[in-house]
Amino acid sequence: MRANFRLQRLHVDADLSAGMMLDLNREHSNYLLNALRLKEGSELLVFNGRDGEWLCELKNIGRKKASATLTELVRTQPIQSSLMVLFAPIKVGRLEYMVQKMTEMGAGIIQPVFTDHTQLHKVNEKRLEANIVEAAEQCGVLSIPELRTPQKLLNILTQWDDERHLVFCDEGHETNNPIPTLQELASKEIAVLVGPEGGFSEKERTILNEMDHVSSIPLGPRILRADTAMVSAISIIQATIGDWN
Ligand code: SAH
Repeated sequence: MRANFRLQRLHVDADLSAGMMLDLNREHSNYLLNALRLKEGSELLVFNGRDGEWLCELKNIGRKKASATLTELVRTQPIQSSLMVLFAPIKVGRLEYMVQKMTEMGAGIIQPVFTDHTQLHKVNEKRLEANIVEAAEQCGVLSIPELRTPQKLLNILTQWDDERHLVFCDEGHETNNPIPTLQELASKEIAVLVGPEGGFSEKERTILNEMDHVSSIPLGPRILRADTAMVSAISIIQATIGDWN
């Protein structure tokens, strides 16, 4: 079921159940009362990534804090997406854009990786987490993707879980069309890897191409920027073997 875009949706930490009174934190209260100017009785949606999405009504509005009563479960908790996205961190603004887009596009696990040509060597995980939650609130994703601690690509590859097939977006691929390769992977758990602005090194490409559970795909005839490549790769995966199917 597609999400309701009329009502404000907030991600909260508390467990959620019918009839309960939810105390909203200061930041949420301030946003609802002062930025959106919602009044007592206004409706909004809340979710916590575990208990589905709930319609609730604002109550007990104080000067700085508000509560809400949960009135109805509007969407049950979906199964978490199993799609894993591995990507090399790029400049901060575009990095935040990338994690927002991955969340919108249905990533279940987000794994930053440091590759030979990665320019950024530190990632502000808290900021990325905040961007993921905000994207989920906006587009109605009820399962917050899991952000994993950044690691070196080669370390991840040496411990690769054979149950999962890695789709590696290779800007040096000789063909243009990723669909035939993807169609052969239907029914498999998928991870997709997008490289940094500097592309993959020859050493990384060789290691990837020699691994058993890895397929390389092209993304058309042009070299895409890393953020465009990531959105294109997830779209084509969702459309051929994922949840657009
Ligand atoms: N500097 C590199 C391009 C890197 S693009 C060069 O000039 O060759 C960043 C990442 O996006 C790549 O590592 C790859 O994972 C992905 N990508 C971009 N264009 C692609 C394409 N046409 N096919 C497959 N992957 C692509």
